[in-house]
Parts: sequence; C-alpha cells; structure tokens
Amino acid sequence: MQITDSVKTLPLIGDVKAKQLERLNIETIKDLLFHIPFKYRDTSNIISIEKFKEEREGTILAQVEKISNAFTRTRKVVTKAKVTDESGSINIIWFNQMYLTRAIHPGEYFLFEGKIPDKIGAREMVAPSFEKFQGDISEQKHIGKITPYYPETANVTSKWLRGRISILKKTMTEMIPDSLPEDTRRSLNLLPLGNAIYKVHFPESFNDIDEGRERLSFDEMLKVALKIEKKVTERNKRNAIPIKGFEDKIEAFIKSLPYSLTKDQQTSTSQIISDISKDIPMNRLLNGDVGSGKTVVAAIAMYITYLNGMTSIIMAPTTILASQHFDTLSEIFKKVKVPIELNVSGRKIKEERNAKIIVGTHAILYDENLPNNVGLVIVDEQHRFGVIQREKLITKKNDGTYPHFLMMTATPIPHTLTNVIFGDMEVSFIRELPPHRIPIKSHFVPYEKRISCYNWIDESIKKSKGVNQAFIVFPLIEESEKIDAKAAVSEYESLSKGVFSDLRVALLHGQMKGSEKDRILNEFKQKKYNVLVSTSVIEVGIDIPDASIMVIESAERFGLAQLHQFRGRVGRGNLQSYCYVIGGENTPVASKNRLKYFATHSNGFDVAEYDLEKRGPGEVYGLKQSGIPSFKVASITDLSLLIKARRVAQDVLEKNINVLENLFE
Ligand code: ADP
Ligand code: MG
Repeated sequence: MQITDSVKTLPLIGDVKAKQLERLNIETIKDLLFHIPFKYRDTSNIISIEKFKEEREGTILAQVEKISNAFTRTRKVVTKAKVTDESGSINIIWFNQMYLTRAIHPGEYFLFEGKIPDKIGAREMVAPSFEKFQGDISEQKHIGKITPYYPETANVTSKWLRGRISILKKTMTEMIPDSLPEDTRRSLNLLPLGNAIYKVHFPESFNDIDEGRERLSFDEMLKVALKIEKKVTERNKRNAIPIKGFEDKIEAFIKSLPYSLTKDQQTSTSQIISDISKDIPMNRLLNGDVGSGKTVVAAIAMYITYLNGMTSIIMAPTTILASQHFDTLSEIFKKVKVPIELNVSGRKIKEERNAKIIVGTHAILYDENLPNNVGLVIVDEQHRFGVIQREKLITKKNDGTYPHFLMMTATPIPHTLTNVIFGDMEVSFIRELPPHRIPIKSHFVPYEKRISCYNWIDESIKKSKGVNQAFIVFPLIEESEKIDAKAAVSEYESLSKGVFSDLRVALLHGQMKGSEKDRILNEFKQKKYNVLVSTSVIEVGIDIPDASIMVIESAERFGLAQLHQFRGRVGRGNLQSYCYVIGGENTPVASKNRLKYFATHSNGFDVAEYDLEKRGPGEVYGLKQSGIPSFKVASITDLSLLIKARRVAQDVLEKNINVLENLFE
C-alpha cells in the first residue's frame, strides 16, 4: 500500500464511502492521513466508580455484570446495565438503542465515558459513550485517551474516521515521505513529517499535539515563504532607473501644500524616496485608511519622477475614481505645472504625448502607445482588497529596466497580516488621519430600537431641509444576488412607504444595469433623493460629500473591516456625520460586543486588528475567497514562523533543492 493509493484500498471503504469522503477532499490515503483533527477531548483520566459517583462525570473502566432491555409504558426501549470495578458498582441506562445488548455482554470489560444527569435523585449514568477494553489503554481508539475530533460530513463521523485512520497506525510513520532536508529539520527542532502526522492522530499528551502541529504549520508556512522568496529573488535581479535628487525642489513643493504632512505621511514619503533612488525597482504597499492622505504621498513620488524627466502612471479601479484622482492631482500640480492627462478607456489619445503623469484605469496597461520612459507605476486599489495580480501591472521596458511600483490600499490591513499576504513587498503604514476633520459619530443600535433610529433620521433630514442624505445598506443574506436584490426591494418598499413616506428614497442593487446604477448615484449626488437603500454588493465609490448618515442593517453579518469601509462613505463634507450599525434580531452577545467596539473606535487599523483577534483571519475581509493563503493548521499571523520559513526558503532555493513535493499541505 502506498499513500498515493485510493482510500478504497482500505477495508470497509467502497464506492459509496469514497464518494462521501470526496466531500472532505479525501481521495487518497495521503488525503486521509492529512485530514487533521480540529479539536481533542481528554478521556484518559480513568477514575474509580466511587469517584465517578462523587464527580458525576468522567471515564470509568468496569466489568459488565448484567445487561437487558425493558419497555416503558410508552413502548420505548430502555437498556439497563450494571457494571462494577474494585471500588463499587453503578447502573447505566440508554434509551432506544436496543442493539446494545448485542454489543455489550456480561463479563466483558468496557470503558464508559459520560455523566450522571444534573437532576436531584439521579444516580445512574445515562447514555455514556463506550468502547470495549482491549487489555491495554494504548490500543483504545475512542476512549481512555486523548481523542481527536475531525472535520466531518454526512455519514462520515469522527468515530468512523478514527477507525479508518487507526488501520494505518503502525505503518503511517514509515509511509509518509518527507522532503524537508534532515539537517534543516533538526536545526529547527521539528519532527519528521510522518511522526508529526502520527502524533496529531494518536497523541499521548497535549505536548504531542503541539509538536505535531508545529511541524505541520511550518510546512504550510514554508510553501508561502517559497512563493515570497521566489518573487523577491526575481525582483532583486531586475534593474530600474534610480529616481533621485532635487531635494530643494521637493522641500519647496511640500511647503507649498495647504497643510503640513502628518508624521506617518512623512515617514511613508521618505521610505518611498529612498526606494526609488535605488537601481532595483521599488515594490511597496502604502497601507492607509480612506482619507489618510495617500494621494499627496503618491504625488510627491510622481513629482520627483517628473523632475528626473520620467513619466508616472497612476491607476484606479474605476473611471469615476480615476477622474477624481485627475482632479485632485491637477490641483496639487497646478503651481509646479506638471503636465497631466486622464486616460480612461474609450478615449483617443494623441500620438504626441507630453503628459508626465497619466491617470487612468487598469485599461492603461493595454495602451500600445505608452511612453517608454515610465519610471513609476502606482495602483490605487481603493476599497477593493488586494486581490489583483500585481505581477501583471509591471512590465519590462524597451531598455530592459522595470518601473518602480507603488500599490495603495484603502483597506487598513493589520501589520500581522501584511507579512504573509504582501510578503514580497515593503509596507508603509499611515495609521493616523490628518487632523481637523469632524469625527463621525458611530452608534450601535439594538434591533428593538431600529424604528426609533429611522424616525430620528427622518427628522434630521427634514430639519436640515434636505441637506443631509442617508445611505442604508442591507447585507448579502443569501448567496444569490437575485434573492438578495429581492430582499432589498421589499425593504425599500416598506421604508419608502413607511417611516420615510415624506422623503424621496432610491434603491440600488447588484441586479441593476451599470448605466442604471450610475444614473441613480448621480441623481443621489445631485440631491434628487434623500435616502439611498442599497445592497452591500454596491461599492459606493464616489464622493457624495453631503451624505452624512450611514445605516448598516444586520451589521453583525459583516466583518468590522467592511463596516469600516461603509463608514468611510460618510464624513467627507463639512457636516457632522453619523454611522448606525443595527443588529439583526437575536444578535448573539459576542456580536453585539463586536459592534459596540466598532461604534467606539474610529481608527480602521484598530477595528481590523480587533476583528482579526476575535474572529480569526478566515472571516476578516473574506480571506477565504480572495486567493490569499488559508491554512489548515498554521496561523496566518505567526510572524516568527514566517521568518523561520523564509530563511529556509532562501536556503533551499539557493541550493536548488525541491522541497515542495512532500510537505504537509
Ligand atoms: P486617501 O488616503 O483616502 O487617498 P486622500 O489622499 O484623498 O486620502 O486625502 C483625503 C483628504 O485629506 C484630502 O482632501 C487631502 O487634501 C487631505 N489631506 C491629506 N493630507 C493632509 C494633511 N496632512 N493635513 C490635512 N489634510 C490632509
Ligand atoms: Mg485615495
């Protein structure tokens, strides 16, 4: 038998079972062995019956004296047994499990694990789990030890999996190859892969589990580290034209701005200036919340590029955002007269170009006539989370050099996550927002107070004589956008005919045509509506300065990072803005607490870090769907593990050792 063989080579696994196992992605023996327990229960502490009667729960090892079935008045089957050990005896009962008398016989020894119910007068052990004693605890599969629990699916229970996996108990250590070089493994104090897998399935102590999982985590992280190191090595081989000098002009330019840079802006700026002065291309992420002032940092980099006689390209995800950048940058560069052009798809560009800054969408990349002196490429991902293919955005130029690359994201990504997700990039953080803004007032609204919240909004819009505008966002409740749109339609109708019957209310959802959506957004901007009801699929990317109220319904369904993105849609103008997160019916206490934390914290990094800690990386930003590594065992935020793995990755790449083949995956 080999680990690449089908699971069907194991006894008791036929076509039907194999089909069921496919749902757990188990097809081969290797898949089965790599199916890792997600939790354990310790039933190894075997106590005497006397002690069990005191503690009313636990595991006993006892001999069956008698066992029989009886019927209750309602014709239900009750199985009764009496079992004994040296300390005494106890009665056990089970309900509706008539077959037990065929599995458990008088005279035999069994392990029973369970409880005496919390009822006054109860003295029997009720419906314990049990396993025949094999004469030696180490031979037990289910009870009397640390018992693993596995991810399950219909008809495939942990108990069943334990049974199948234990068939391989004696052989698995030898069967599982390990491609991590032995000296590396030893120097890191890690178990051989086979031993690690053995220990997570058959631990004798919690320390075994830790040791096993440590090795498996390392393998997962090593895979990521290899990808990162390959990219870094590749990049370090590339050439770029250094962009530098003109310190006086840059200083004057910064002085001419209508404000002074925040400390984080200053730090980011000098990190970027230092990167682009080198002859290898910059590869940097500028990570700062909406409104943290990333544009001006990018502008400084573009200005130096211009002074060096080269062109910068800046790309935004949508045409609207590109035009907004064009306006902002035109204003910033007015005094120093840097020629700048807007290049969005469908626009004809003159053959002769003199622009030194080209603003557009990703469509720019397909422009055949780009000047060949592009020194800096900037991508502003705005509210989309970094799922774009970065590699595709930077191409080699005629002279064999590559442009410097800066990516901007408006999703505050915690430091602990950027290491893995953007491991091949340097990262600059802008944590603090510029001063002087009117802070948004955020509130958690429990479901019962929902209507009074809407009444308040209704009044406040009326009082402002229609100046204030409100967004109301409904979460994606179904996986289907159609059903989702339907829900939004009905909410829209009940709101527009109910509380907001005197206001003009518009609806926006993902099933509408693009032109229709644009029309509604524009009309909202022109104040034709007071309230915009929308589903969460809508990225409300455009600036609507007078929208000062943001309401998010069933807010507990969102991650805090996403709630924060919604909140960023208001508070842009000169009005006091509000954000209401309304809990759905029966919101659990933990979710309420999360929403309360959100309502009392305005910094995007704070809320993202809190969410990461409370809910784990899988839930934050929908990491699961975004092509970002998801680990079975390792923690994505384990920086020290990543550092170790990157060192090993560098080493094996240098020595050209292929480790990928036989690692845990
Ligand atoms: P984002 O990081 O979302 O791209 P922007 O660059 O659009 O943020 O900046 C948001 C607003 O803050 C702009 O109106 C900009 O002029 C202003 N701003 C940027 N930096 C500062 C600063 N240091 N002090 C005051 N206002 C600033
Ligand atoms: Mg921006």
